[in-house]
Amino acid sequence: MINRRQAIGAAATLAVATAATQLATPGTALAAQAGWTACAKCQSLWWPNTPYVIPCPAGGHHTKDGSFVYRVKVQSDGGSGQNDWRSCATCQCLWWSGATAGRCAGDLNGHRISSYAIGKSWYYLVDFEPQFPSERHQRGWRSCANCSVLFFTPTGGPNGRCAAGGRHDTAQSWSYLLRY
Ligand SMILES: [Zn+2]
Ligand SMILES: [Zn+2]
Ligand SMILES: [Zn+2]
Repeated sequence: MINRRQAIGAAATLAVATAATQLATPGTALAAQAGWTACAKCQSLWWPNTPYVIPCPAGGHHTKDGSFVYRVKVQSDGGSGQNDWRSCATCQCLWWSGATAGRCAGDLNGHRISSYAIGKSWYYLVDFEPQFPSERHQRGWRSCANCSVLFFTPTGGPNGRCAAGGRHDTAQSWSYLLRY
């Protein structure tokens, strides 16, 4: 698979400004929440639209440089896919909350659904491959067996940087796709 994120990085970055406002209206019916980005350092999907400094497992802070602007479905709007994804109030990554708190770059106790600074996370829904939506989409997303975040891997193997150490691990992961 070719990672095409670099090719349209400029256009993707422009879309962030308008997408940011959608977080302020929980409860509103949304086909999907726009404004998610992939961090080029750790390959995790994360929400960049907060005023806070967000830690990255690769060191320093997450970056949105060169990323597509992805759309993630809100669980309450239904549809196919896997439920129980949340955004972490500390590292802002999308992580699967159905098993454990995972491992977080900013909290030794794992990912959190809320913090003093960030209100309670929504539930999200992520589509499985194979599927052929009419909208633009990208394959190659997996959940990490060690930290539980959604991350991009063009080869389908370990990639990025994990809060548990080393690369994110694809073991036993479903294959997911994201719309952008
Ligand atoms: Zn990162
Ligand atoms: Zn976290
Ligand atoms: Zn990981």
